[in-house]
Amino acid sequence: MSIAPVIVWFREDFRLSDNAALSAAARDGAPILCITILEPEPRQGAAHDWWRDGAIRALEAALQEKGGRLHVLRGKAEDIVPALAKACKAASVHWNRRYDPAGRAIDTTIKTQLKSTGTEAHSFPGALLHEPWTIRTQADKPFQVFTPFWRAARKYGDPRPSLPAPDTLTFAPLPKTDQFHCLNQDEFGLLPVAPDWATGFRETWKPGEKAAHEHLSLFVEDTLRGYSEERDYPAAEACSRLSPYLRFGHVTPAQLWHAAMQADAPAQNRDKFLAELGWREFAWSILFEQANVATRSLRPEFDALPWRTDPKGLKAWQSGRTGYPLVDAGMRELWHTGWTHNRVRMVVASFLVKHLLLDWREGERWFADTLVDHDPASNPMNWQWNAGTGVDAAPFFRIMNPVLQSEKFDADGEYIRRWVPELHRVPAGMIHAPWAADQETLKGCGVVLGRNYPHPIIEHKLARERALSVWKTFRGA
Ligand SMILES: Cc1cc2nc3c(=O)[nH]c(=O)nc-3n(C[C@H](O)[C@H](O)[C@H](O)COP(=O)(O)OP(=O)(O)OC[C@H]3O[C@@H](n4cnc5c(N)ncnc54)[C@H](O)[C@@H]3O)c2cc1C
Repeated sequence: MSIAPVIVWFREDFRLSDNAALSAAARDGAPILCITILEPEPRQGAAHDWWRDGAIRALEAALQEKGGRLHVLRGKAEDIVPALAKACKAASVHWNRRYDPAGRAIDTTIKTQLKSTGTEAHSFPGALLHEPWTIRTQADKPFQVFTPFWRAARKYGDPRPSLPAPDTLTFAPLPKTDQFHCLNQDEFGLLPVAPDWATGFRETWKPGEKAAHEHLSLFVEDTLRGYSEERDYPAAEACSRLSPYLRFGHVTPAQLWHAAMQADAPAQNRDKFLAELGWREFAWSILFEQANVATRSLRPEFDALPWRTDPKGLKAWQSGRTGYPLVDAGMRELWHTGWTHNRVRMVVASFLVKHLLLDWREGERWFADTLVDHDPASNPMNWQWNAGTGVDAAPFFRIMNPVLQSEKFDADGEYIRRWVPELHRVPAGMIHAPWAADQETLKGCGVVLGRNYPHPIIEHKLARERALSVWKTFRGA
């Protein structure tokens, strides 16, 4: 008698190691049917789609090395998973949990459907250090402030040990019926075609578990040693750049944690890095409770703030043509590579919300479409933090000065020159605020403001006064 297969459904966990759903299936010894589903909802951003394409291909290759394959299906998971389980008489379906309310609702429906037909459904942890419902206040409420959240999380000690990739796997085929069409790579439809804007992505990133571990090794063996002092400087290669690998589950936060703990690095650097993983956990703990974190201000009174409408300003910000070199460098790096540095994300977010007085949701949406690491928890949480509309957020009246930020964190202009080539020959003393420089000297460096680099779209002092005045009126009301 043949053994009933186990379906392993890969979602945001494109890896073989530390994959609890896969390891449990392998332990059972049953043949495994590996699937992933291109679901219509939620619609993901274009940069996210680009990475997903690479993530699927990399996992396909890894499974092929083990003698199997990944079946890529398209449609609603609620339709496909129960039907597939029935068609192949699966003993169970395994998956690693997702934590966004929409995804959880789909998973709950599928679990109920499977159970009603006698198929077991097993879900496993993995995408977070701790399950979001475990870190709660004494009153059993979600934390609203990061520091006590992280203190409570750290009391749990180290996360569980990470699992090795299963040594051997046996595979089950997709049932031979027209009901399930396994997509070829050229049918995924995730890559940009006309125009193909992904050249910079291909030059910068290699999706997949193998590349993730190469990145991680380099980081813990070298960069982590100076992490807390250098991580704020965008020209330095001083942060891990692991965010898209975490987003697609090529590595788990538990693997990062253990690698950092074993690294030969000063404790303050390791702790700072672990605390950043803590911010990621905090963001997910918020989304777990509040589905509308990307659409509603967590401090609802801010939804009444009179945000401006300014399509030209928004376009200038999106395309890196604001006339503020650090802002422009960040927005161009984002467009070119799908990623930008955390300090720069803060500066550009503050600029959009406070200098242009544009609704933080405009920025959130642009990042959601252009970031390869976009995640539905960290992105809105950080936007709301920077806008002052969120929990534990920087107050609205704290307005970053993009010139001072530039002078402090990119003092010799190296980062700006990398991403704003028109300013390549401008010396450090002029590069942060070219409009304040002697225009003849600037011309000697090949820059004529208004011709090949824009004048600032708004003066900092004016923008600051406008934002504070709106804030005061709003607060008074
Ligand atoms: C406006 C704005 C939007 C952002 N949107 C996203 C997003 O969509 N996805 C995303 O992963 N991060 C987001 N971040 C957080 C942060 O900028 C990135 O996680 C970080 O830049 C990734 O680079 P890294 O992997 O080198 O980080 P490292 O400094 O090496 O940190 C390690 C890991 O910790 C986590 N982390 C670090 N900082 C934060 C943070 N502030 N919030 C949550 N997690 C953090 C990330 O998973 C990161 O990979 C956003 C920040 C801002 C200001």
